[in-house]
Amino acid sequence: MAAPQATGWRKLNIGVVGGGIGGMSVAIALRRAGHDVTIYERSDYAGEVGASVSCAANGTRWLHEWEVDVAKGDPVVLKKLINRDWKTGEPISVYSLDDYEERWGYVYNMFHRQYMHAMLKESAIGEDGKGTPAKLLVNHKCKEIDLQTNTITFENGVSVNHDLIVGADGIGSAVRGIIGIHPVRKPAEQQCLHCNVMTEDAVKAGLVNYSENAALEYWGGQEGKWDKIVLSPCNGGKLLSYYCFFPRDQGDYTNQAWGAEDRPVEELLNPYPQLDRQVFGHLAIGKEIQPWRLWIHDPYPYMHKSRVCILGDAGHPMMPHQSQGACMAIEDAAALGILFSPAYFDGNIEESLTVYTDVRLPRATRVQAAAAKAAYNINERIGFSNNKDLPFYKVEDAKKVLTIEEMNAYDMHRDIEEKLASLKGSQYAGKFICGLPIGLELPNGIIIGAA
Ligand SMILES: Cc1cc2nc3c(=O)[nH]c(=O)nc-3n(C[C@H](O)[C@H](O)[C@H](O)COP(=O)(O)OP(=O)(O)OC[C@H]3O[C@@H](n4cnc5c(N)ncnc54)[C@H](O)[C@@H]3O)c2cc1C
Repeated sequence: MAAPQATGWRKLNIGVVGGGIGGMSVAIALRRAGHDVTIYERSDYAGEVGASVSCAANGTRWLHEWEVDVAKGDPVVLKKLINRDWKTGEPISVYSLDDYEERWGYVYNMFHRQYMHAMLKESAIGEDGKGTPAKLLVNHKCKEIDLQTNTITFENGVSVNHDLIVGADGIGSAVRGIIGIHPVRKPAEQQCLHCNVMTEDAVKAGLVNYSENAALEYWGGQEGKWDKIVLSPCNGGKLLSYYCFFPRDQGDYTNQAWGAEDRPVEELLNPYPQLDRQVFGHLAIGKEIQPWRLWIHDPYPYMHKSRVCILGDAGHPMMPHQSQGACMAIEDAAALGILFSPAYFDGNIEESLTVYTDVRLPRATRVQAAAAKAAYNINERIGFSNNKDLPFYKVEDAKKVLTIEEMNAYDMHRDIEEKLASLKGSQYAGKFICGLPIGLELPNGIIIGAA
């Protein structure tokens, strides 16, 4: 079937494969843009991940735009990023978020993944809110998509046809392969075990109450080191979510998946004989110890084919070290919501998806590359990358570090207008380049638009 040509805006019947963070976000954005949306999720959510997910201002802004009830996610609003000395626990690099909301208009939220998911799900399928509530069908695992007819076939035998299909099916995406992208990936040199600590248990054990800092805290992670502990307080501070990184030769979890039996606590503690005793004490009472497989994916060449596109981890899986995986999925969703809104969508689905790839791929690829660098050098991490006056600050290339300004001063509408103008061969007169205001000076001295 030939792709429809521009005939003016019309309501589409959209299928979203995968009902995770990105799938729910895109369902919200597209229902608000006036479309009928059905989400197909392979699971029944029984094995949802019990860990934190951070949502910086570039993600939070869309939650507000979509009138999501953020309080339902029970977030911790972060006040600081703290990098601590590996052995003593003394702060060595601190990035204050005191003026964050004032500068960027939105706060930096730390959610528990299950709460964040429930919050998004309610906005996607709930009766309240703009547009027609999305439908959610669980136990629908996508097997095939016929790119000519845009028909999805599920493992349960059901087949459905949609005007537009969004593959939001995560890191192991089936849709990605169906549109012809076969990832080149290698296991990271670094591995991760995650554990949860109840703040109450830590306090009872006489340990520091880290939740009082309302900070994303890091032990180690300085240049060249794979060892790093990342602490994210969530659930209003009641839960401390710990990501514990170490070199792969100290424990290879590439063949283990989240959701298997918990690992013993000794396995979590073994790589860290010299770690600050306070945080070590927290890990010693850690529960739900689960491996997180880490892979490095080369960037993909595109994010759509015909009338099928991919988003989130399906489109640009990244290492966790910029805490931007969820935000990038939310931004993808926002881009689709804008492109298919009455203000921009003129009936040509493939053209809108071309602009989607043009807008999303460069930005997500930049974050993906920066996340891989921050794996072994915390100075490359957004926020710490601005602390360039510290004596140990060293980055690969100061002109290329990813800065908080690029993440949060970004205007997606302007980026879309620029790319749309380029596709149509018309002149873009806005004072933005790739969504960043011309003249904006980044902390690394780069001025947007300067030769
Ligand atoms: C432990 C952990 C901690 C993380 N911490 C952070 C963090 O602090 N900050 C951050 O920004 N990001 C974090 N991330 C990454 C973040 O969760 C992901 O980047 C984000 O969830 C991407 O959303 P997604 O919708 O692409 O994928 P997911 O949220 O993984 O959703 C994919 C969905 O697709 C479904 N699915 C898969 N295959 C099929 C199929 N064939 N048919 C139908 N459905 C299918 C899955 O069941 C799942 O529900 C973390 C991830 C993990 C695992």
